[in-house]
Amino acid sequence: MPANPSSATPPSFRPASAASPAVTPADQSQFSFRVGTRLAESCPPSAAQVLANGGEFLGRTGLISTPHGEIQTPAFIAVGTKATVKSVLPESMAELGAQALLANAYHLYLQPGADILDEAGGLGAFMNWPGPTFTDSGGFQVMSLGSGFKKVIDMKSVDTSGPDDAVAPGKERLAHIDDDGVWFKSHLNGDHHRFSPEISMQVQHQIGADIMFAFDELTTLQNSRGYQEESLERTRLWALRCIKEHFRLTAARVGKPYQALFGVIQGAQYEDLRRKACRDLGAMPFDGFGIGGALEKENLGTIVRWCNEELPEDKPRHLLGISEPDDIFTAIENGADTFDCVSPTRVARNSAFYTPFGRFNLSGAKYKRDFGPLQEGCDCYACANYSRAYIHHLYKAKEMLSATLISIHNERFVVKMVDDARLAIESGRFFEFKAETLARYYS
Ligand SMILES: [Zn+2]
Repeated sequence: MPANPSSATPPSFRPASAASPAVTPADQSQFSFRVGTRLAESCPPSAAQVLANGGEFLGRTGLISTPHGEIQTPAFIAVGTKATVKSVLPESMAELGAQALLANAYHLYLQPGADILDEAGGLGAFMNWPGPTFTDSGGFQVMSLGSGFKKVIDMKSVDTSGPDDAVAPGKERLAHIDDDGVWFKSHLNGDHHRFSPEISMQVQHQIGADIMFAFDELTTLQNSRGYQEESLERTRLWALRCIKEHFRLTAARVGKPYQALFGVIQGAQYEDLRRKACRDLGAMPFDGFGIGGALEKENLGTIVRWCNEELPEDKPRHLLGISEPDDIFTAIENGADTFDCVSPTRVARNSAFYTPFGRFNLSGAKYKRDFGPLQEGCDCYACANYSRAYIHHLYKAKEMLSATLISIHNERFVVKMVDDARLAIESGRFFEFKAETLARYYS
């Protein structure tokens, strides 16, 4: 942290809409959310649909306003882990309709260091993205990378004989959780670091995204019920500490655009724990909420619905990390306003591209002389200008441009699908749109 916060603002950086920054240190009015059309009203579901969903549909459209612009929801938030959407220019992301980007506090803390982003004027200025930005708290990466494999973390007390305290084969345990925070070793060079709620807030304030997430503990589905309860209480206490530090930093960092803070709901697969977490955190002065943690695909909609039945209706809800088109519809209809996903660029690097008829792999020999676009009728830059045959050639020749072009197309595909879902809620044909889209995609 800079010793003198006022000296950390480069003269070239001007907050987008801070009216009188010297007078108002914590102008929360720079962030707002407004509910638009409710799904249950514009598209009244049948009794059979409600029964199949296990409860009422809580989907809605809305508008999130941040100091760097607005987000029409539901919205897909593209992931730029290290302050870049892998292989895609920010200008291309804007052109394909991305409304906001989500970066990773853990990765940026380790490299290049959050102070560098602060000096640059924040994440958006650093990466030349003028629109809204998100950062996650770093908790997920600290804990999942710390145990050597994704989604399984270190356990300090285990009362089952299950594998949840395991680390990946051949890996050393790199993260250790206590009530105050987490010690972890950098996955880059093995250096020791400490993350706590306060440190996560300091790091995220320096990174400067419009929307930040509170530091939470990630559990797994294999953890015992007793551990889930203990962990949930730890996350509740950490949420209070995050708010306190967030308010302190907001007041201290005079002249900075207001950064919204979202609380993160854990509780794994347990309905009572999820609902308790929502009531506990819902009563705290968060600007919005993230729904995180262990989720099985088949329970995604149910868990999102439990949470959104409890959370305050007038605050936005972000579902952390989903992947497939059916998950997106499930999230939207159960009331998630935004969600992020690394899949469009991750699969693109392996030559996979989305179409309305499913996901295909461009490495196949049948594309060698296929001079059509990745997707007939797609309005993206890649489809307007390049053929499957050319991108197939680039991929086979190990040329970087293949990842760029496929990523542009895949990001556009998902952004447009979510935009169309939003329009379908407004026009009263969401369930028809969902049925048509999924029937075609999974045919
Ligand atoms: Zn395209």
